[in-house]
Amino acid sequence: MFRKSIRDFVTQVADPLYFEAKKNPAGVRKKLWLEAGRRGIMGIAIPEKYGGQGGSVLMQGIAKEELGRSKLVATLVPAPLLTIYERFAEYGNEAVVKKWMPKFMSGEAQCGIGSTEPQSGSDISGFVTTAVKKGKSYILNGEKGPVSGVQSAEAYFILARTGPAGSGAKGVSMFLVETGRPGVELSNFKAMEETWELGGIKLDNVEIPEENLIGQEGRGFYQMMGSLDVERILLPMGYIGGAMESLEESIEYAKSRVVWKRPIASFEGVMFPLVEAVTRLETVRCYAYDVMRTAETDKNVTKYASMARWIVTRTALDALDTCIQVNGAQGYTDQVPHERRYRWVRSGLIGHGTQEIQKLVIGREIFGKEIYDLALGRK
Ligand SMILES: Cc1cc2nc3c(=O)[nH]c(=O)nc-3n(C[C@H](O)[C@H](O)[C@H](O)COP(=O)(O)OP(=O)(O)OC[C@H]3O[C@@H](n4cnc5c(N)ncnc54)[C@H](O)[C@@H]3O)c2cc1C
Repeated sequence: MFRKSIRDFVTQVADPLYFEAKKNPAGVRKKLWLEAGRRGIMGIAIPEKYGGQGGSVLMQGIAKEELGRSKLVATLVPAPLLTIYERFAEYGNEAVVKKWMPKFMSGEAQCGIGSTEPQSGSDISGFVTTAVKKGKSYILNGEKGPVSGVQSAEAYFILARTGPAGSGAKGVSMFLVETGRPGVELSNFKAMEETWELGGIKLDNVEIPEENLIGQEGRGFYQMMGSLDVERILLPMGYIGGAMESLEESIEYAKSRVVWKRPIASFEGVMFPLVEAVTRLETVRCYAYDVMRTAETDKNVTKYASMARWIVTRTALDALDTCIQVNGAQGYTDQVPHERRYRWVRSGLIGHGTQEIQKLVIGREIFGKEIYDLALGRK
């Protein structure tokens, strides 16, 4: 029933807006978030007292998978399911959480994540953005990017250094920074998937109240890491949904498209790649569900979460490549959603930790920390 309720949202509300979304992505995004909020989709794992549903990892995964089936892809639909909202509810100042969480849950407002910095990229211990305590405020200076949501986010969860330079992860704290504050400057980058609101944030002497510190000073990195394993499993669930939807559509297309007086599905050169793609995707889907079930009770799923994140994304991307090929010229156009899904899933090999970083994490779990530190030049 839960899966069907999400699928109804996709087929009845989101997908009919496919062509409108090309002309007016911001308007469609807002409309969809408000409707998702009304249907309780925005905060599946958020405690009920903050307007969420108090649901499980598995429920979030099912929601992601179904939302990923949308023709509009995740940049417009499932972004609100950020697990970082759970950390905000857990560690944030009660008054600040009460002020913002109902808006996030209703779809009225969105909060982005400002972790990556242009200078340090994957090496998040190399942050240079600082937050200095001054009376009852913090003053933030630095730059974040690329980050998602620059056109619509009303606030960002920003990681900034409160400890001395060189203090590594231990000197990093997390803050809620409203984008309307003086000194916040947002910029836009044109992304490969055109509806993705990618850009940068400059922070020039931005003053925020001390209540906007989330959790304790020096714990920001660990708080964010606390949701990372689950985020790593959930993110590719959307890719499974998207690739599976494209495969189903492409199978139907291959059965109906006739050339050489035969449906193209009857050519081995068309049937076998589809058979292989479905087989691989079904296999990694089973694995992803297994990892999600494990994560319900065992928090120590780092290795498996990174494995799922990498192999599912890669498999979904390869499946979408097959779909584009089977659809011939129309597969290369926006008349069918496969090329758009491909461009969306492609981001999954970079954003939120690249595929190489996933392999480093898996390597650390397999070979041990000493080899990992050597790999990163820390020894
Ligand atoms: C679509 C999209 C949305 C994003 N949204 C957000 C967001 O909302 N918030 C946010 O904070 N960030 C966001 N990011 C940024 C993302 O997290 C970073 O792009 C990512 O962490 C990699 O950093 P980088 O791009 O600077 O690459 P770099 O770190 O410069 O890496 C460049 C290349 O070198 C490889 N590499 C680096 N170090 C190693 C190593 N030790 N071993 C092997 N290979 C290595 C990388 O894998 C990559 O292929 C987003 C990125 C994308 C693409």
